[in-house]
Amino acid sequence: MTTPPQFAAIPPSSMAAEQATSKRAPTRYDSTKPHITDTPITRANWYKHVNWLNVFLIVGIPLYGLVAAFWTPLVWKTAAFAVLYYFATGLGITAGIPLRIFLAAVGGGAVEGSIRWWARDHRAHHRYTDTDKDPYSVRKGLLYSHVGWMVMKQNPKRIGRTDISDLNDDKVVQWQHRNYLKVVLFMGLIFPCLVTGIGWGDWIGGLVYAGILRIFFVQQATFCVNSVAHWLGDQPFDDRNSPRDHVITAYLTLGEGYHNFHHEFPSDYRNAIEWHQYDPTKWFIWTCKQLGLAYDLKQFRQNEIEKGRLQQQQKKLDQARSRLDWGIPIEQLPVMEWDDYQEQARNGRALVAVAGVIHDVADFIKDHPGGKAMIGSGIGKDATAIFNGGVYNHSNAAHNLLSTMRVGVIRGGCEVEIWKRAQRENKDIHFVTDSTGQKIIRAGNQVTRIAEPVATAGAA
Ligand SMILES: [Zn+2]
Ligand SMILES: [Zn+2]
Repeated sequence: MTTPPQFAAIPPSSMAAEQATSKRAPTRYDSTKPHITDTPITRANWYKHVNWLNVFLIVGIPLYGLVAAFWTPLVWKTAAFAVLYYFATGLGITAGIPLRIFLAAVGGGAVEGSIRWWARDHRAHHRYTDTDKDPYSVRKGLLYSHVGWMVMKQNPKRIGRTDISDLNDDKVVQWQHRNYLKVVLFMGLIFPCLVTGIGWGDWIGGLVYAGILRIFFVQQATFCVNSVAHWLGDQPFDDRNSPRDHVITAYLTLGEGYHNFHHEFPSDYRNAIEWHQYDPTKWFIWTCKQLGLAYDLKQFRQNEIEKGRLQQQQKKLDQARSRLDWGIPIEQLPVMEWDDYQEQARNGRALVAVAGVIHDVADFIKDHPGGKAMIGSGIGKDATAIFNGGVYNHSNAAHNLLSTMRVGVIRGGCEVEIWKRAQRENKDIHFVTDSTGQKIIRAGNQVTRIAEPVATAGAA
């Protein structure tokens, strides 16, 4: 047997077997035959694609527990213990710190594969997020990332390779991997049964509620990290991949809901970085540190986190900016002689020149807040001073609106010339473009805006 992603009940010697696969495994795996996952699913062979062991562990056992619950009265002490044990075993999966033995034990109680197996796939998931080498890529569908990757067979060669030498060097991890079946049976079912049985005589209740049904809920909670956390919520740090932040996911997964942060800063022990966000895994690790049980907690500098957040905000701003109408870029406008401009205005075109830029205000005359007459008085003239305080000092919004009406620039038009030269010399007005190549016009920076109104012949 090679290394199918059987998340539980890995044979006791499977780690050694994995390493020796090529030497001693001709019994069930013929390398000349294509792996079952490389053949299409048909009506005749679908059952060969299914990982029946995992179906039994993920679907079969919980169903049995559900049915058994009908005949098993729920004792409140057992209920309380089941919830408590849910958190303990859940943390065994979501906290990865050197409380090794405790975590290896309760992590086993979650029945979600050995540390070694889980961590190997988890690292591949981080390294190859959303690609074919991601063991539970959400790009293959929400259901696939939730349980599909386990109930269906996977070609072990497809999963991306990652370095797990640290795990192979860890005695506890190795021990847990070798004895995985025993750990699962004891911590998953026998231990909760013993607690409730010896504690208050509720043997069956312990097995059904604190054992089977709790396993089901812990499994589903963890699976949500791979599915819901890649599907629901915001992406405050990077939106190129699927991981997302959402409070609902946090509640479902013992705090793993700030998954966009987690993928961006993977070695940070936190998922939620705000104190008010729900992240019991972080609180647990932090408490262990205060008690001296955990050490060396990794945390990214706030400076790095804020840089990532700002860049993502900038990206969103750029996208929003590119959806707006900023008028034809100055450099793309046709050049018009002054005489030609006046001529056209005399012949009925509602053209207004402000700061060397010609605007066609025909459709706006009736809507002008200052009245028709006022805007009409600027037609065919240099309205730079009128517009910039000579009559009324127009708002930034007015300059923005004006820019959407521009149709040309005047040859030698003084303000445009000054503006262009200032940009070339990198003075006063900064000519900045965003990541999409869109020019950034900041408030008060429209070309038609000038600090000190100039008196011109046309404005007299
Ligand atoms: Zn992760
Ligand atoms: Zn993820």
